[in-house]
Amino acid sequence: MQTAQFFDQKLLSKYNTSGPRYTSYPTALEFHDEFTDLDLTKAITDSPNRDLSLYVHIPFCHSLCYYCGCNKVITRHRDKADTYLAFLAQEIASRAPLFTDYTVKQLHWGGGTPTFLTKAQISKLVNLLKTHFNFADELEMSIEVDPREIDVDLADHLYSVGFNRISIGVQDFDAKVQETINRVQSTEFIEKFIQRAKTVGFKSVNVDLIYGLPHQELNTFAKTLAKIQAIDPDRISLFSYAHLPSRFAAQRKLRDEWLPNVDEKFALMKLAIESLCDYGYEFIGMDHFAKPDDELAIAQRSGVLHRNFQGYTTKGDCDLLGLGVSAISAIGHSYSQNIKELKDYYQAIDDHQHAVEKGLTLSEDDLIRGEVIRELMCNLYVSKNAINNKFSIDFDQYFAHDLPQLQTFIDDGLLTNTDEAISVKQSARLLIRNICMSFDAYMKKKVNQQRFSRVI
Ligand code: SF4
Repeated sequence: MQTAQFFDQKLLSKYNTSGPRYTSYPTALEFHDEFTDLDLTKAITDSPNRDLSLYVHIPFCHSLCYYCGCNKVITRHRDKADTYLAFLAQEIASRAPLFTDYTVKQLHWGGGTPTFLTKAQISKLVNLLKTHFNFADELEMSIEVDPREIDVDLADHLYSVGFNRISIGVQDFDAKVQETINRVQSTEFIEKFIQRAKTVGFKSVNVDLIYGLPHQELNTFAKTLAKIQAIDPDRISLFSYAHLPSRFAAQRKLRDEWLPNVDEKFALMKLAIESLCDYGYEFIGMDHFAKPDDELAIAQRSGVLHRNFQGYTTKGDCDLLGLGVSAISAIGHSYSQNIKELKDYYQAIDDHQHAVEKGLTLSEDDLIRGEVIRELMCNLYVSKNAINNKFSIDFDQYFAHDLPQLQTFIDDGLLTNTDEAISVKQSARLLIRNICMSFDAYMKKKVNQQRFSRVI
């Protein structure tokens, strides 16, 4: 892949503003607490989908990574997970009867740290889910693995209970960076663990990297990337570190002067993208890389890549049920989120066996704009005819107030807008969030814009 096309520094600087990552449209900031469990039940009844994706949130972590913006609880007490699993079991038991005519095609455990759970707790939770939901014979089962405080044979155990995909948070192999972000982990162990996972039969290994961390330098990050090539994962997620200390207290431990400046961060991103493409990975969406024979790469080439709260996915036709504290669901024409605080989650489950705190029933306008934004985020292309046929509208008329905002991108040679389609050039791949903002009705109110991270 020609990578030079991605990096017109002048244009990237021009458009390097804050913006949503559009894992949903409207974004989670628009969820409100008038949305109730009754609305969710109605959304389930009305949904035409009968395939289900389950997300289970495990909030615990052994120690605090200072860059972290996730919803987590730091503790050394493993027995806390027993309490959590007991409440989760109640939520599962109360939710599952609403999904008896669904088939689970995808299961993902995220966190926090799902591998905070012991092997026995992992088995127990998998069995619980399998007892309550109808699992397809073949399904994608993935789990986020923290390579600290686990043994290498955890790979065997995860595979034996059905997991076939793992995702490992590496971020950076450099010792100084790791110490600064309080996430020291053994490169040797990560290599061994991934090797073991491949040997026991895992279908896919994903590795997470972050650029823009404190003390990251081109020469050390190049070594991290070379190590990634040697480890040979199937997929890589490359995230930009979003320094928002006013929102995430842990980030206050990271001093501004330790962070790469805008030019240095740009150079780190460029190095990563060039290296990963050189190694033979395909650039997926705006921040993923996959081997050419990986399902994500195939889906992107076929124009059927999808996006949900976990990022890019091939399972676009599933409803998503989130279980556990802070978990998000996307069912039919609704989004909803469970309570974020653990003790409040426990109280809600005690009181009414579910913990929905807020959400949104999508309007027709939300659905239309959501489809346009998703097509752009995933495929860099929107067929106006496809949108017209799906929603019985006239695209150009419907978006008459929005389309003029594309002019700046057209003038900069970043996209074309014809009678048939909006087509984004590869040179705007890294700016796709900005282009999507042109179709975001909520963004126009500009109320919450400062709460999003910068594009780069
Ligand atoms: S980065 Fe992951 S492991 Fe670290 S504190 Fe956040 S959720 Fe926990």
